[in-house]
Formats: sequence, C-alpha cells, structure tokens
Amino acid sequence: MSGILVVAEHRRGLLADISREAVAAAVEARAAIGGPVRVVVIGDEPARHVDGLNQPGVDEILTVTAGGSEFDAMLYEEAVMAVAAEIQPTLVLVGHSADGMALAPALAVGLGSGFASDVFGFGADEQGIYALRSGFNNKVNMSLRFPAKPVVVLTLRGQTWKPSSDTGSAMVKAFAAVPTPGYSHLEYIEPPASGVDIGKADFIFSIGRGIQDENNVPRFSGLADRIGATLGCSRPVADSGWLPKAHQVGLTGKVAGNCKLYIACGISGAVQHLHGMKHVETIIAVNTDPHAPIFKVASLGVVMDSLAFADALERQLQ
Ligand SMILES: Cc1cc2nc3c(=O)[nH]c(=O)nc-3n(C[C@H](O)[C@H](O)[C@H](O)COP(=O)(O)OP(=O)(O)OC[C@H]3O[C@@H](n4cnc5c(N)ncnc54)[C@H](O)[C@@H]3O)c2cc1C
Repeated sequence: MSGILVVAEHRRGLLADISREAVAAAVEARAAIGGPVRVVVIGDEPARHVDGLNQPGVDEILTVTAGGSEFDAMLYEEAVMAVAAEIQPTLVLVGHSADGMALAPALAVGLGSGFASDVFGFGADEQGIYALRSGFNNKVNMSLRFPAKPVVVLTLRGQTWKPSSDTGSAMVKAFAAVPTPGYSHLEYIEPPASGVDIGKADFIFSIGRGIQDENNVPRFSGLADRIGATLGCSRPVADSGWLPKAHQVGLTGKVAGNCKLYIACGISGAVQHLHGMKHVETIIAVNTDPHAPIFKVASLGVVMDSLAFADALERQLQ
C-alpha cells in the first residue's frame, strides 16, 4: 500500500475549492507519506474538472464516468472503493464539507480504515500517520494516531491549505465505469441567496448580543455598509432571527477565512465564536466588560457601550 488518494468534489458543474486545497495538502505531505499522489474525480463529465485538479506534484488523475452531474454518496462510495481496491492508497483525503461528510465515514467503514474529521494538519513519522484536529468544542487541539490501520481516511478543513496556481503534469487515466445505481437525482434545490459570504469577506463588522436590541440591527448594518464591511454576527443574533444564519461567524457559522480586519461589537468571545475569527490579523473589540474574553485575541480593545461606539463612528464618518 502506498500513496495518497484525493477524492474531488464538484457541484453545479464547478470544482469545489476544498478539492483544490485537498490536492495541495496531498502534495505537501507527499514526501512524509510516500508514494504517488492521485486524484479521483467522479461524475457524468469528470474530464471537465481535470485542469482544476492538475497541480504540480500530482501524479495521476483518475476519471470515473458514472452517475449524473451532482454528488451521490452511494455512487461515490462505490467508485472510490473500486479505485482504492486497485491502487491501494495509504491515505484517502476528502473535503470536510456536507458532501465529504456524507461520503467519508462510509468509506472508512468500507475500507476498515482509521478515520478523523475536520483535520487541519497531518503527516507521518516513524509511528505512522497522524492527524491534527480540535476537540471539545474547539477548546483543545489533539494529535490522533491510527495504530494497526494500513489505511487512513481524513476529511480536511477548508481554507487551510493553499492550492498552487501552476499547472502540473499529471497523467489522466479513465477508470473503468461503475454501474449506475437504480435511482436518480431529481432536483437540486439552492439554499436561499443571502448575498453574504463570510468566508470570502476581507473586512467584517460583527455584532453580538451586546448591541442590546433587534431594533439596533439596521443601524449597525448601515454602518457596516458605510465603512465597506460585511456584516457578521454571533450565534445568538442569528438564533434570535435578528440576522439570517449566513451572517454567523464561528463553529456552527462560517470561518472568516479571508478576513484581514474584524470588528467585534458587543461579542463576548466564546470559544465557538473565536473559532471563526481569532486568526484574523487585526481584531478590534468593543465591549463594556473589560474582562470579556474577546479582548484576549483583540489587537485593539475599546471598553465602551456598543451604541456609544456607533455614535462615535457615525460622527467620524460625517
Ligand atoms: C456547539 C456550539 C456551537 C456554537 N457555535 C457558535 C458559533 O458558530 N458562533 C457563535 O458566535 N457562537 C456559537 N455558539 C455560542 C457561544 O457559546 C456563545 O454563546 C455566543 O458566541 C455568545 O454570543 P455573544 O457574544 O453575542 O453573546 P454574550 O455571550 O451574551 O455576550 C454579549 C457581550 O456583550 C457585552 N455587552 C453587553 N452589553 C453591552 C453594550 N451595551 N455594549 C457593548 N458590549 C456589551 C457583554 O459584556 C458580553 O461580553 C455555539 C455554542 C455551542 C454550544
């Protein structure tokens, strides 16, 4: 057994960013894990995704023509199992996405492999493969090992590895088709469009329970617009219906993966919120409680009432 197999993911005809990131992760770990880096892409037209996956360091891209254009957990499982039976990889990488999580655990059971999800680092040493993930609602980071497992399946956290923009020289090989299952994909229902993409925003003005009242939301939303920021929020703000869920930053919201400047207004800084933003280069926190945990990650702390802060900002903008 040797090498890494990346399972590519695509939706609505577009290759998922996480797949390119997973390829980058595989290439980075290639020397430690050993063996070739292969990518498998499944669908009715798998060849259309080959260019996006062909990064330097990839040895082979296997196309499996099967099913329709949309993800299908059972079909993918069957196809990846067939590919794995032939190439015998040591490590199988899947994106930590809704589709990836529908596939990876079943794959791990099928392969009798070790398994870890939401992994943000991995490698291998004399004791074998290890994976890094967080636990206990993000309160600790842990390193996992998979003793006596000849193969390991990992789902990788998004926006953790940077894909190469260069084109590689992978061989492209059509893998024998997998039988089409006796059911078909009927319809793809898009989630309601919110126009907000916390993951891509570079400047986020985020509000928490400390803005006091739902009636104050339009004021902060207007301020965010005026300073060119995307409006973010903590979970209670979304759970109370003050803002749609798409604005939520954190563990069960979105990670502000591209953000350079984050204003946290009336947000306490619970670990689940920090999960989505503590990595941001410049964090400005506004809170009436000087001991609020958010100040531990802030570059600039303002001990102030959120509405007084809004007043001051409006005065400055005038
Ligand atoms: C499994 C799980 C997943 C979770 N996922 C998320 C997640 O994705 N995102 C998330 O945000 N949370 C998440 N949470 C919830 C999280 O634990 C906190 O409860 C939440 O982040 C608190 O939101 P908050 O800071 O707005 O409210 P609070 O904790 O109530 O804090 C309000 C803050 O505002 C300050 N304040 C009060 N009045 C004012 C004022 N007038 N002016 C200025 N400041 C003021 C207070 O001092 C306080 O620090 C999750 C929890 C669990 C268990």
